[in-house]
Amino acid sequence: MESHLSAALEYARSFLHEGAVATYIPELAKGDPTQLGAAIYAADGEIYRVGDWQQEFTIQSISKTITLILALQLAGYRKVFSKVGVEPTGDPFNSIVRLETTAPRPLNPMINAGAIATASCCMGGRDAFSEFLKLTRRLCGRSSISLNEEVYRSEKQAGMRNRSMAYLMQSDNLLECDAEDALDLYFRMCSVNVNTMDLARYGMVLAGNGKDPETGEQLVEGWIVRIVKTLMVTCGLYDASGEFAMKVGIPAKSGVGGGIMGSVERKMGVAAFSPGLDAKGNSVGAFHMLEYLSHHLGLHYFAGSECRV
Ligand code: GLN
Repeated sequence: MESHLSAALEYARSFLHEGAVATYIPELAKGDPTQLGAAIYAADGEIYRVGDWQQEFTIQSISKTITLILALQLAGYRKVFSKVGVEPTGDPFNSIVRLETTAPRPLNPMINAGAIATASCCMGGRDAFSEFLKLTRRLCGRSSISLNEEVYRSEKQAGMRNRSMAYLMQSDNLLECDAEDALDLYFRMCSVNVNTMDLARYGMVLAGNGKDPETGEQLVEGWIVRIVKTLMVTCGLYDASGEFAMKVGIPAKSGVGGGIMGSVERKMGVAAFSPGLDAKGNSVGAFHMLEYLSHHLGLHYFAGSECRV
């Protein structure tokens, strides 16, 4: 395993020049595009790490999976899926166009509009961000996980596109609260600092059907885990979800902070990180690390058949 991880690192490093850090959130522009790391949390409790696995970065859109878990826990299936659909879009993650042309309801919870609507379902008079942070810490197994204030402020200041979507949705009665409150919660959720180890452990919770891999405690109910993993397969990498499914074949979720979290059924959680992104907003380094690991460890959901990439 150690040698596969080192080889994956070298393989992915050769593609790093193709990526560029996100600049539309000014704080993210400070990321170092040469950083690259990964972690695996195996079902037997073994942990494997390589490169900049310990580097903290903001969770960004990977938070959308946790937002969905929380919303389903707090507001239930009917409420959540009355606000957001479950179909892939084929559009960029921050696209606004479908809210007008397809249906007012955002197509799925893994794109910005869908996550803002999902976040609004978590409000209900409670301190939704503390609930989110508490859940994130439990899933990742680290109580020191916290908000990156600089990124949060930067997102809030620069988030005019997200603001436009939220107001449009509010005008269509799709939000469970005021647009600014839903946005504030959404920006905070995106701005939580994690590292690859945290995300690998979270991936293992999902891979183990919601059970804490150390204590065996059921952290998330099975029906919720199934919904989240299904949406990771179909929508987890935005408009590159099809390519990722073909080349990597692991339920996964990416974020513009440079992370990708994956969950290999019953076997492992795996996460990779590198701040340079491709044109669709997915980390070039993380994508290639996962691609390498999937091939060499046989992690594709249809492993066994020949792979030709
Ligand atoms: N916070 C980012 C945004 O709203 C999240 C996007 C992402 O990670 N793809 O644009």
